[in-house]
Amino acid sequence: MAQETVARGAAVIVGAGHAGFQLAVSLRQLGFKARVCLINDEPHLPYQRPPLSKAYLKGTGGPDTLMFRPEKFYADQGIELITDRATAIDRTAHQLKLASGAALDYGHLVLATGARNRLLDIPNANLPDVRYLRILDDSEDLRRRIASSKRVVVIGAGFIGLEFAATARIKGLEVDVLELASRVMARAVTAEISDYFQGRHTAAGVRIHLGVQATAIEASGGMITGVSLSDGRHLPADLVVVGVGVLPNVELAADAGLPVASGIIANAHLLTADPDISAIGDCALFASPRFGGSLRLESVQNATDQARCVAARLTGDDKAYDGQPWFWSDQGDDKLQIAGLTTGYDRVVLRGDPAQKAFSAFCYREGKLVGIESVNRAGDHMFGRRLLPMDRSITPEQAADSKFDLKGALA
Ligand SMILES: Cc1cc2nc3c(=O)[nH]c(=O)nc-3n(C[C@H](O)[C@H](O)[C@H](O)COP(=O)(O)OP(=O)(O)OC[C@H]3O[C@@H](n4cnc5c(N)ncnc54)[C@H](O)[C@@H]3O)c2cc1C
Repeated sequence: MAQETVARGAAVIVGAGHAGFQLAVSLRQLGFKARVCLINDEPHLPYQRPPLSKAYLKGTGGPDTLMFRPEKFYADQGIELITDRATAIDRTAHQLKLASGAALDYGHLVLATGARNRLLDIPNANLPDVRYLRILDDSEDLRRRIASSKRVVVIGAGFIGLEFAATARIKGLEVDVLELASRVMARAVTAEISDYFQGRHTAAGVRIHLGVQATAIEASGGMITGVSLSDGRHLPADLVVVGVGVLPNVELAADAGLPVASGIIANAHLLTADPDISAIGDCALFASPRFGGSLRLESVQNATDQARCVAARLTGDDKAYDGQPWFWSDQGDDKLQIAGLTTGYDRVVLRGDPAQKAFSAFCYREGKLVGIESVNRAGDHMFGRRLLPMDRSITPEQAADSKFDLKGALA
């Protein structure tokens, strides 16, 4: 089937984020001969997203420092980078309609539409000083606002909220972080890692408020004065940054009659219900034989490895997607790295010492290592990335013993 798809014509990719860009590149690397069209609805060359809440937010470099490749690269590779927005899929005609009125014929269509910010739904949330952080323009805007603001309330203590909070604090702002859950990054990491990061942000002067919700943005004459909380308190602010999660961009698929749930539904080969349409990256809810059930992951690893998997299929090497998840987050001078999927664990053992700012949480399910969350211990992280795909484990006792030789265990 993959061979037939190749023979029938163009690969059209909707979305030029990490997944879409990698797919276009991998197709050419694997010798895909037909047309490759990459539809980009942002007014920039395709760029990296993670620095937007990290180095780029702190630094002074221009947008060119974020671009995957210069413009010439696309022409040289025969990748048609089309600045436009996909508006509809005609599955019968094998045609993608664009906002400009143009239409593209596809042999295979890949939806790499990513996700968008979940918006805050409380009074005054639409004021101009309530900001989000997803795209390059957001980061540029927040750089300017960090320089001109004094006091920020960050709503949501997830990765992006905390990365922003750390930078804002380094830049001298008063920072309050609100989180509805009882610990920071609760959906993503173990309590041990949450505790460490809560401590490090607090020590840096960030005030973290757990178990509370923002109920209203307070304003006077259109200018923010603060945020009201569910516990009756009021925190002054001249800037609010919201990081309360994302929603996958599924509408294009849904409107074309493709099944969607909390993502565009794809099988283990990343094919949707239509054999000529794939879905990859943040927008895809894919079947995972390795982890069981369906997963939708938000990470660069997932986006790029899924792109490589689909590129291989479209050039004749059709395998189920079996990427090993990994992730990172830089918060101030601390680097958090996660290998594996650390949800559903029943035992956690620590290696290293949180007091020394270098430790890892080894997560076990039914005695088997399922993931490693590391703070400033790149060696442990790399060990996890190498061991976990082999479907092997070390015992919790070995993990906790800092003299146990991890490299030796890989042999
Ligand atoms: C601030 C920030 C920091 C992050 N930090 C990390 C990190 O440290 N580590 C990590 O692993 N991950 C991180 N992530 C997550 C990571 O960036 C995403 O998982 C990754 O970008 C997903 O790639 P994607 O291509 O699936 O989606 P996206 O990068 O979101 O790209 C999708 C693109 O499709 C476009 N699009 C949508 N609909 C259409 C349409 N109809 N027509 C045309 N184009 C369309 C969108 O505008 C977007 O440009 C971070 C994300 C953000 C926002």
